[in-house]
Amino acid sequence: LVGSEMCIRDRFKMGYLDLSKQELEKEYSVLSKRFEEIKGMGLNLNMARGKPSKEQLDLSLPMLDTINSKSDFIGEDNMDCRNYGLLNGITECRKLFADILGVDAENVIVGGSSSLNMMFDTISCFMTAPVVDGCKPWYEVKNRKFLCPVPGYDRHFGITQYYGFELIPIPMDGNGPDMDIVEKLVSEDESVKGIWCVPKYSNPAGTTYSDEVVKRFAALKPAAKDFRIMWDNAYCIHEISDTPDVLLNIMDECKKTGNEDLPIMFCSTSKITFPGSGVAALAASENNLKVLREKYNYEIISYDKLNMLRHVRFFKNYDGVLKHMEKHKKILKPKFDIVLDTLDKELEPAGIASWKKPHGGYFVSVDVYDGTAKRTVALCKEAGVVLTGAGATYPLGLDPKDSNIRIAPTFPPNSELEVAMDVFCTCAKLAACEKILNK
Ligand code: PLP
Repeated sequence: LVGSEMCIRDRFKMGYLDLSKQELEKEYSVLSKRFEEIKGMGLNLNMARGKPSKEQLDLSLPMLDTINSKSDFIGEDNMDCRNYGLLNGITECRKLFADILGVDAENVIVGGSSSLNMMFDTISCFMTAPVVDGCKPWYEVKNRKFLCPVPGYDRHFGITQYYGFELIPIPMDGNGPDMDIVEKLVSEDESVKGIWCVPKYSNPAGTTYSDEVVKRFAALKPAAKDFRIMWDNAYCIHEISDTPDVLLNIMDECKKTGNEDLPIMFCSTSKITFPGSGVAALAASENNLKVLREKYNYEIISYDKLNMLRHVRFFKNYDGVLKHMEKHKKILKPKFDIVLDTLDKELEPAGIASWKKPHGGYFVSVDVYDGTAKRTVALCKEAGVVLTGAGATYPLGLDPKDSNIRIAPTFPPNSELEVAMDVFCTCAKLAACEKILNK
Protein backbone atom coordinates (compact mmCIF):
# COMPACT_ATOMS: atom_id res chain seq x y z
CA LEU A 1 0.00 0.00 0.00
CA VAL A 2 1.42 3.35 -0.91
CA GLY A 3 -0.11 6.32 0.84
CA SER A 4 -1.39 9.26 -1.16
CA GLU A 5 1.07 11.57 0.57
CA MET A 6 4.42 11.03 2.19
CA CYS A 7 4.10 10.95 5.96
CA ILE A 8 5.64 13.69 8.05
CA ARG A 9 8.02 11.28 9.73
CA ASP A 10 9.52 10.32 6.37
CA ARG A 11 10.34 13.92 5.73
CA PHE A 12 11.54 14.83 9.21
CA LYS A 13 12.84 11.43 10.36
CA MET A 14 11.53 12.20 13.81
CA GLY A 15 9.51 10.15 16.23
CA TYR A 16 5.94 11.21 16.95
CA LEU A 17 6.81 12.44 20.41
CA ASP A 18 9.37 14.86 18.91
CA LEU A 19 6.86 16.43 16.53
CA SER A 20 5.08 19.70 17.21
CA LYS A 21 1.31 19.57 17.63
CA GLN A 22 0.91 21.05 14.17
CA GLU A 23 3.22 18.47 12.58
CA LEU A 24 1.44 15.64 14.35
CA GLU A 25 -1.95 16.98 13.23
CA LYS A 26 -0.65 16.86 9.66
CA GLU A 27 0.55 13.29 10.15
CA TYR A 28 -2.83 12.40 11.62
CA SER A 29 -4.69 13.74 8.61
CA VAL A 30 -2.35 11.86 6.20
CA LEU A 31 -2.87 8.62 8.12
CA SER A 32 -6.64 9.14 8.32
CA LYS A 33 -6.77 9.58 4.57
CA ARG A 34 -4.71 6.45 4.06
CA PHE A 35 -6.95 4.56 6.46
CA GLU A 36 -10.02 5.53 4.42
CA GLU A 37 -8.26 4.36 1.23
CA ILE A 38 -7.52 1.01 2.87
CA LYS A 39 -11.10 0.62 4.02
CA GLY A 40 -12.20 1.16 0.46
CA MET A 41 -10.18 -1.89 -0.60
CA GLY A 42 -12.62 -4.25 1.15
CA LEU A 43 -9.86 -6.43 2.62
CA ASN A 44 -10.57 -9.66 4.48
CA LEU A 45 -7.28 -10.76 6.08
CA ASN A 46 -6.41 -12.61 9.27
CA MET A 47 -3.30 -12.57 11.48
CA ALA A 48 -5.10 -13.79 14.61
CA ARG A 49 -4.22 -17.36 15.50
CA GLY A 50 -1.00 -19.31 15.15
CA LYS A 51 -1.98 -21.84 12.53
CA PRO A 52 0.44 -23.41 10.04
CA SER A 53 -0.04 -22.31 6.42
CA LYS A 54 -1.38 -24.67 3.78
CA GLU A 55 2.15 -25.04 2.37
CA GLN A 56 3.33 -26.25 5.80
CA LEU A 57 0.47 -28.73 6.12
CA ASP A 58 1.35 -30.11 2.70
CA LEU A 59 4.80 -31.09 4.03
CA SER A 60 3.22 -33.84 6.12
CA LEU A 61 0.89 -35.27 3.48
CA PRO A 62 3.15 -38.29 2.76
CA MET A 63 2.62 -39.28 6.40
CA LEU A 64 -0.94 -40.22 5.47
CA ASP A 65 0.47 -42.86 3.11
CA THR A 66 2.62 -44.56 5.74
CA ILE A 67 -0.37 -46.62 6.86
CA ASN A 68 -3.02 -48.21 4.69
CA SER A 69 -5.11 -51.38 4.65
CA LYS A 70 -2.04 -53.41 3.62
CA SER A 71 0.20 -52.16 6.41
CA ASP A 72 1.78 -54.17 9.19
CA PHE A 73 0.20 -52.78 12.35
CA ILE A 74 2.47 -54.55 14.82
CA GLY A 75 4.84 -52.14 16.50
CA GLU A 76 7.90 -52.58 18.75
CA ASP A 77 5.67 -53.75 21.60
CA ASN A 78 4.57 -56.68 19.46
CA MET A 79 0.98 -55.49 19.80
CA ASP A 80 -1.60 -54.82 17.12
CA CYS A 81 -1.89 -51.02 17.07
CA ARG A 82 -5.43 -51.29 15.72
CA ASN A 83 -6.64 -52.58 19.05
CA TYR A 84 -6.95 -51.35 22.65
CA GLY A 85 -3.87 -51.36 24.85
CA LEU A 86 -0.66 -49.54 25.78
CA LEU A 87 -2.09 -46.62 27.72
CA ASN A 88 1.34 -44.98 27.90
CA GLY A 89 1.62 -44.97 24.11
CA ILE A 90 3.58 -47.22 21.78
CA THR A 91 7.23 -47.62 22.73
CA GLU A 92 8.68 -46.17 19.52
CA CYS A 93 6.56 -43.03 19.89
CA ARG A 94 7.49 -42.65 23.57
CA LYS A 95 11.14 -42.85 22.50
CA LEU A 96 10.60 -40.18 19.85
CA PHE A 97 9.04 -37.76 22.35
CA ALA A 98 11.73 -38.64 24.89
CA ASP A 99 14.31 -37.40 22.39
CA ILE A 100 12.28 -34.28 21.59
CA LEU A 101 11.87 -33.39 25.27
CA GLY A 102 15.29 -34.65 26.42
CA VAL A 103 13.98 -37.15 28.99
CA ASP A 104 13.85 -40.95 29.50
CA ALA A 105 11.18 -42.80 27.53
CA GLU A 106 9.81 -44.38 30.74
CA ASN A 107 8.86 -40.89 31.90
CA VAL A 108 6.76 -40.17 28.81
CA ILE A 109 3.04 -40.67 28.30
CA VAL A 110 1.94 -40.24 24.70
CA GLY A 111 -1.65 -39.01 24.64
CA GLY A 112 -4.16 -37.92 22.07
CA SER A 113 -3.88 -35.18 19.50
CA SER A 114 -3.57 -32.14 21.79
CA SER A 115 -1.06 -31.11 24.43
CA LEU A 116 -3.51 -28.44 25.65
CA ASN A 117 -5.90 -31.28 26.37
CA MET A 118 -3.18 -33.04 28.42
CA MET A 119 -2.52 -29.82 30.33
CA PHE A 120 -6.25 -29.38 31.04
CA ASP A 121 -6.40 -33.01 32.18
CA THR A 122 -3.39 -32.56 34.46
CA ILE A 123 -4.87 -29.54 36.24
CA SER A 124 -8.24 -31.31 36.35
CA CYS A 125 -6.58 -34.37 37.90
CA PHE A 126 -4.84 -32.29 40.59
CA MET A 127 -8.14 -30.56 41.38
CA THR A 128 -9.59 -33.79 42.67
CA ALA A 129 -6.59 -36.02 43.52
CA PRO A 130 -3.85 -34.92 45.91
CA VAL A 131 -0.66 -34.28 43.94
CA VAL A 132 1.33 -35.47 46.97
CA ASP A 133 0.07 -37.75 49.75
CA GLY A 134 -1.14 -35.66 52.66
CA CYS A 135 -1.87 -32.55 50.55
CA LYS A 136 -5.41 -31.41 49.85
CA PRO A 137 -6.74 -31.76 46.30
CA TRP A 138 -6.66 -28.27 44.82
CA TYR A 139 -10.44 -27.84 44.80
CA GLU A 140 -10.29 -27.82 48.61
CA VAL A 141 -7.79 -24.94 48.60
CA LYS A 142 -10.18 -22.01 48.58
CA ASN A 143 -7.72 -19.21 47.73
CA ARG A 144 -5.72 -21.24 45.20
CA LYS A 145 -3.41 -19.22 42.95
CA PHE A 146 -1.54 -19.85 39.72
CA LEU A 147 1.35 -17.78 38.35
CA CYS A 148 0.98 -16.51 34.79
CA PRO A 149 4.05 -15.03 33.08
CA VAL A 150 2.93 -12.12 30.87
CA PRO A 151 2.51 -11.63 28.05
CA GLY A 152 1.55 -15.28 27.72
CA TYR A 153 -0.76 -17.85 26.15
CA ASP A 154 -4.45 -17.09 26.66
CA ARG A 155 -5.49 -20.75 26.63
CA HIS A 156 -3.13 -21.58 29.53
CA PHE A 157 -4.62 -18.80 31.58
CA GLY A 158 -8.09 -19.97 30.56
CA ILE A 159 -7.58 -23.45 32.04
CA THR A 160 -6.68 -22.16 35.50
CA GLN A 161 -9.37 -19.48 35.27
CA TYR A 162 -11.89 -22.23 34.54
CA TYR A 163 -10.77 -24.11 37.65
CA GLY A 164 -11.21 -21.06 39.86
CA PHE A 165 -7.60 -20.07 40.49
CA GLU A 166 -6.62 -16.49 41.15
CA LEU A 167 -4.29 -15.70 38.26
CA ILE A 168 -1.19 -13.74 39.23
CA PRO A 169 0.62 -12.01 36.36
CA ILE A 170 4.41 -12.33 36.46
CA PRO A 171 6.35 -9.88 34.29
CA MET A 172 8.64 -11.38 31.64
CA ASP A 173 11.84 -9.91 30.30
CA GLY A 174 14.29 -11.16 27.66
CA ASN A 175 15.44 -13.93 30.05
CA GLY A 176 12.03 -15.28 31.03
CA PRO A 177 9.77 -14.64 34.04
CA ASP A 178 10.98 -12.32 36.80
CA MET A 179 12.44 -14.96 39.11
CA ASP A 180 12.74 -12.65 42.13
CA ILE A 181 8.95 -12.37 42.15
CA VAL A 182 8.43 -16.07 41.36
CA GLU A 183 10.77 -17.18 44.17
CA LYS A 184 9.16 -14.84 46.69
CA LEU A 185 5.57 -15.87 45.91
CA VAL A 186 6.34 -19.57 45.63
CA SER A 187 8.38 -19.78 48.82
CA GLU A 188 6.04 -17.66 50.95
CA ASP A 189 2.53 -18.63 49.86
CA GLU A 190 1.30 -22.19 50.20
CA SER A 191 -1.77 -21.41 48.11
CA VAL A 192 0.41 -20.80 45.01
CA LYS A 193 0.07 -24.17 43.28
CA GLY A 194 1.80 -23.72 39.96
CA ILE A 195 3.10 -21.63 37.09
CA TRP A 196 2.56 -21.74 33.33
CA CYS A 197 5.80 -21.70 31.32
CA VAL A 198 6.50 -21.74 27.59
CA PRO A 199 10.26 -21.92 28.06
CA LYS A 200 11.41 -21.82 24.44
CA TYR A 201 10.17 -19.22 21.95
CA SER A 202 7.39 -18.26 24.34
CA ASN A 203 3.94 -17.44 23.05
CA PRO A 204 3.82 -14.56 22.19
CA ALA A 205 7.19 -12.86 22.88
CA GLY A 206 9.45 -15.56 21.42
CA THR A 207 11.58 -15.52 24.58
CA THR A 208 13.77 -18.46 25.52
CA TYR A 209 14.43 -18.78 29.24
CA SER A 210 18.08 -18.14 30.15
CA ASP A 211 20.19 -20.83 31.86
CA GLU A 212 19.97 -18.83 35.07
CA VAL A 213 16.17 -18.75 34.94
CA VAL A 214 15.94 -22.52 34.34
CA LYS A 215 18.39 -23.19 37.20
CA ARG A 216 16.39 -20.93 39.51
CA PHE A 217 13.20 -22.82 38.57
CA ALA A 218 14.95 -26.09 39.38
CA ALA A 219 16.13 -24.69 42.71
CA LEU A 220 12.72 -23.39 43.86
CA LYS A 221 11.76 -24.19 47.44
CA PRO A 222 7.98 -23.97 47.30
CA ALA A 223 5.94 -23.48 50.43
CA ALA A 224 3.39 -25.85 48.83
CA LYS A 225 4.65 -29.43 48.55
CA ASP A 226 2.27 -29.82 45.61
CA PHE A 227 3.52 -26.81 43.61
CA ARG A 228 4.09 -27.79 39.97
CA ILE A 229 5.69 -26.14 36.93
CA MET A 230 3.61 -26.59 33.77
CA TRP A 231 6.56 -26.66 31.32
CA ASP A 232 4.86 -26.38 27.92
CA ASN A 233 7.67 -26.84 25.43
CA ALA A 234 5.33 -26.34 22.47
CA TYR A 235 8.01 -24.66 20.33
CA CYS A 236 11.07 -26.69 21.38
CA ILE A 237 12.24 -27.43 17.82
CA HIS A 238 10.43 -24.67 15.94
CA GLU A 239 13.34 -22.62 14.61
CA ILE A 240 13.21 -19.74 12.15
CA SER A 241 16.80 -18.59 12.47
CA ASP A 242 20.20 -20.12 11.75
CA THR A 243 21.24 -19.19 15.27
CA PRO A 244 18.70 -21.10 17.36
CA ASP A 245 18.24 -20.39 21.05
CA VAL A 246 19.37 -23.17 23.38
CA LEU A 247 17.22 -24.06 26.37
CA LEU A 248 18.68 -25.80 29.40
CA ASN A 249 16.94 -29.10 30.17
CA ILE A 250 14.81 -28.53 33.25
CA MET A 251 14.52 -32.21 34.14
CA ASP A 252 18.31 -32.57 34.24
CA GLU A 253 18.58 -29.47 36.40
CA CYS A 254 15.84 -30.72 38.70
CA LYS A 255 17.63 -34.05 39.10
CA LYS A 256 20.66 -32.10 40.34
CA THR A 257 18.57 -30.20 42.92
CA GLY A 258 16.49 -33.20 43.98
CA ASN A 259 13.39 -31.44 42.63
CA GLU A 260 12.41 -33.97 39.95
CA ASP A 261 8.75 -33.72 40.93
CA LEU A 262 8.51 -30.01 40.10
CA PRO A 263 8.16 -29.95 36.29
CA ILE A 264 5.53 -31.53 34.10
CA MET A 265 6.64 -31.19 30.50
CA PHE A 266 4.36 -31.05 27.47
CA CYS A 267 4.69 -30.91 23.70
CA SER A 268 2.94 -32.04 20.55
CA THR A 269 3.34 -32.37 16.81
CA SER A 270 0.54 -29.86 16.21
CA LYS A 271 2.92 -27.45 14.47
CA ILE A 272 5.08 -30.23 13.08
CA THR A 273 2.44 -32.30 11.27
CA PHE A 274 -1.29 -31.48 11.58
CA PRO A 275 -2.83 -29.33 14.34
CA GLY A 276 -5.78 -31.20 15.76
CA SER A 277 -4.56 -34.45 14.22
CA GLY A 278 -1.04 -34.61 15.59
CA VAL A 279 0.27 -36.49 18.60
CA ALA A 280 0.83 -34.98 22.06
CA ALA A 281 2.93 -36.12 25.00
CA LEU A 282 3.81 -35.28 28.56
CA ALA A 283 6.85 -36.19 30.60
CA ALA A 284 7.14 -36.18 34.37
CA SER A 285 8.74 -37.90 37.35
CA GLU A 286 7.48 -41.32 38.38
CA ASN A 287 5.72 -39.76 41.41
CA ASN A 288 3.73 -37.41 39.18
CA LEU A 289 3.04 -40.12 36.59
CA LYS A 290 1.59 -42.34 39.29
CA VAL A 291 -1.04 -39.72 40.14
CA LEU A 292 -1.81 -38.98 36.49
CA ARG A 293 -1.99 -42.66 35.47
CA GLU A 294 -4.52 -43.31 38.18
CA LYS A 295 -6.79 -40.80 36.46
CA TYR A 296 -6.05 -41.99 32.92
CA ASN A 297 -7.05 -45.49 34.00
CA TYR A 298 -10.60 -44.24 34.45
CA GLU A 299 -10.57 -41.76 31.60
CA ILE A 300 -9.60 -43.81 28.54
CA ILE A 301 -8.65 -47.33 27.52
CA SER A 302 -5.94 -46.25 25.12
CA TYR A 303 -5.16 -43.37 22.78
CA ASP A 304 -4.92 -43.41 18.97
CA LYS A 305 -2.00 -45.77 18.37
CA LEU A 306 -2.48 -45.76 14.60
CA ASN A 307 -1.71 -42.05 14.60
CA MET A 308 1.36 -42.68 16.77
CA LEU A 309 2.49 -45.38 14.34
CA ARG A 310 1.85 -43.12 11.37
CA HIS A 311 4.02 -40.40 12.92
CA VAL A 312 6.88 -42.75 13.81
CA ARG A 313 6.88 -44.42 10.41
CA PHE A 314 6.96 -41.00 8.74
CA PHE A 315 9.78 -39.49 10.82
CA LYS A 316 11.67 -42.72 11.66
CA ASN A 317 13.59 -40.94 14.44
CA TYR A 318 14.40 -37.58 16.06
CA ASP A 319 16.78 -36.72 13.24
CA GLY A 320 13.88 -37.19 10.82
CA VAL A 321 11.79 -34.73 12.84
CA LEU A 322 14.58 -32.14 12.79
CA LYS A 323 14.96 -32.51 9.01
CA HIS A 324 11.21 -31.96 8.66
CA MET A 325 11.45 -28.83 10.82
CA GLU A 326 14.07 -27.44 8.43
CA LYS A 327 11.39 -27.50 5.73
CA HIS A 328 9.00 -25.58 7.99
CA LYS A 329 11.75 -23.07 8.68
CA LYS A 330 12.21 -22.37 4.95
CA ILE A 331 8.52 -21.51 4.69
CA LEU A 332 8.32 -19.53 7.93
CA LYS A 333 11.48 -17.43 7.68
CA PRO A 334 10.19 -15.21 4.82
CA LYS A 335 6.91 -14.69 6.71
CA PHE A 336 8.68 -13.48 9.85
CA ASP A 337 10.94 -11.32 7.65
CA ILE A 338 7.88 -9.61 6.15
CA VAL A 339 6.51 -8.83 9.60
CA LEU A 340 9.79 -7.65 11.08
CA ASP A 341 10.91 -5.66 8.03
CA THR A 342 7.56 -3.84 7.88
CA LEU A 343 7.73 -3.05 11.60
CA ASP A 344 11.30 -1.75 11.16
CA LYS A 345 10.34 0.36 8.18
CA GLU A 346 6.98 1.69 9.35
CA LEU A 347 6.91 1.75 13.13
CA GLU A 348 10.52 2.13 14.20
CA PRO A 349 10.95 5.71 12.88
CA ALA A 350 7.67 6.77 14.51
CA GLY A 351 9.09 5.68 17.87
CA ILE A 352 5.74 4.50 19.17
CA ALA A 353 6.18 0.73 19.42
CA SER A 354 8.67 -1.95 20.45
CA TRP A 355 9.10 -5.62 19.62
CA LYS A 356 11.68 -8.40 19.75
CA LYS A 357 12.96 -10.43 16.81
CA PRO A 358 12.33 -14.06 17.76
CA HIS A 359 14.63 -16.88 16.64
CA GLY A 360 11.73 -19.32 16.49
CA GLY A 361 8.18 -20.05 17.53
CA TYR A 362 5.00 -18.77 15.98
CA PHE A 363 4.53 -15.14 16.97
CA VAL A 364 5.81 -11.60 17.04
CA SER A 365 4.75 -9.66 20.11
CA VAL A 366 4.39 -5.92 19.53
CA ASP A 367 3.98 -3.34 22.28
CA VAL A 368 2.24 -0.40 20.65
CA TYR A 369 1.95 3.06 22.22
CA ASP A 370 0.53 2.73 25.75
CA GLY A 371 -3.26 2.83 25.81
CA THR A 372 -3.71 2.09 22.09
CA ALA A 373 -3.68 -1.71 21.67
CA LYS A 374 -7.47 -2.06 21.77
CA ARG A 375 -7.90 0.89 19.44
CA THR A 376 -5.28 -0.48 17.01
CA VAL A 377 -7.00 -3.88 16.89
CA ALA A 378 -10.39 -2.19 16.40
CA LEU A 379 -9.05 0.00 13.57
CA CYS A 380 -7.50 -3.06 11.90
CA LYS A 381 -10.84 -4.86 12.12
CA GLU A 382 -12.59 -1.90 10.54
CA ALA A 383 -9.99 -2.02 7.76
CA GLY A 384 -10.56 -5.76 7.20
CA VAL A 385 -7.62 -7.24 9.14
CA VAL A 386 -8.40 -9.53 12.08
CA LEU A 387 -5.81 -9.67 14.89
CA THR A 388 -5.74 -11.54 18.21
CA GLY A 389 -7.89 -9.52 20.63
CA ALA A 390 -5.93 -6.88 22.53
CA GLY A 391 -5.40 -8.03 26.11
CA ALA A 392 -5.60 -11.73 25.18
CA THR A 393 -1.99 -12.20 26.27
CA TYR A 394 -2.88 -11.26 29.88
CA PRO A 395 -4.92 -13.18 32.49
CA LEU A 396 -8.64 -12.31 32.20
CA GLY A 397 -7.79 -10.30 29.08
CA LEU A 398 -6.57 -7.39 31.20
CA ASP A 399 -3.44 -5.76 29.83
CA PRO A 400 -2.76 -2.99 32.36
CA LYS A 401 -0.97 -0.83 29.78
CA ASP A 402 -3.30 -1.73 26.89
CA SER A 403 -0.21 -2.05 24.71
CA ASN A 404 0.49 -5.70 23.79
CA ILE A 405 -0.63 -7.16 20.46
CA ARG A 406 0.23 -10.65 19.26
CA ILE A 407 0.91 -10.99 15.55
CA ALA A 408 0.65 -14.47 14.04
CA PRO A 409 2.44 -14.45 10.67
CA THR A 410 2.33 -18.13 9.78
CA PHE A 411 -1.07 -18.70 8.19
CA PRO A 412 -1.65 -15.99 5.53
CA PRO A 413 -0.01 -16.26 2.11
CA ASN A 414 2.99 -13.88 1.91
CA SER A 415 1.26 -11.45 -0.44
CA GLU A 416 -1.62 -11.07 2.04
CA LEU A 417 0.76 -10.81 4.96
CA GLU A 418 2.51 -7.83 3.34
CA VAL A 419 -0.80 -5.99 2.97
CA ALA A 420 -1.99 -6.96 6.45
CA MET A 421 1.24 -5.67 8.01
CA ASP A 422 0.93 -2.35 6.17
CA VAL A 423 -2.60 -2.02 7.50
CA PHE A 424 -1.43 -2.92 11.01
CA CYS A 425 1.31 -0.28 10.98
CA THR A 426 -1.04 2.39 9.61
CA CYS A 427 -3.57 1.60 12.34
CA ALA A 428 -0.94 1.52 15.12
CA LYS A 429 0.33 4.94 13.97
CA LEU A 430 -3.17 6.36 13.63
CA ALA A 431 -4.09 5.14 17.13
CA ALA A 432 -0.89 6.65 18.57
CA CYS A 433 -1.59 10.00 16.87
CA GLU A 434 -5.12 10.01 18.27
CA LYS A 435 -3.81 9.25 21.76
CA ILE A 436 -1.04 11.84 21.75
CA LEU A 437 -3.39 14.46 20.29
CA ASN A 438 -6.16 13.50 22.72
CA LYS A 439 -8.63 12.95 19.89
N1 PLP B 1 0.92 -24.53 23.86
C1 PLP B 1 1.24 -23.37 23.27
C2 PLP B 1 2.25 -22.48 23.90
C3 PLP B 1 0.61 -22.99 22.08
O1 PLP B 1 0.92 -21.83 21.52
C4 PLP B 1 -0.35 -23.85 21.51
C5 PLP B 1 -1.05 -23.49 20.27
O2 PLP B 1 -0.99 -22.40 19.79
C6 PLP B 1 -0.65 -25.05 22.16
C7 PLP B 1 0.00 -25.37 23.33
C8 PLP B 1 -1.68 -26.00 21.63
O3 PLP B 1 -1.08 -27.20 21.38
P1 PLP B 1 -1.93 -28.50 20.99
O4 PLP B 1 -2.42 -28.34 19.61
O5 PLP B 1 -0.94 -29.61 21.14
O6 PLP B 1 -3.05 -28.60 21.97
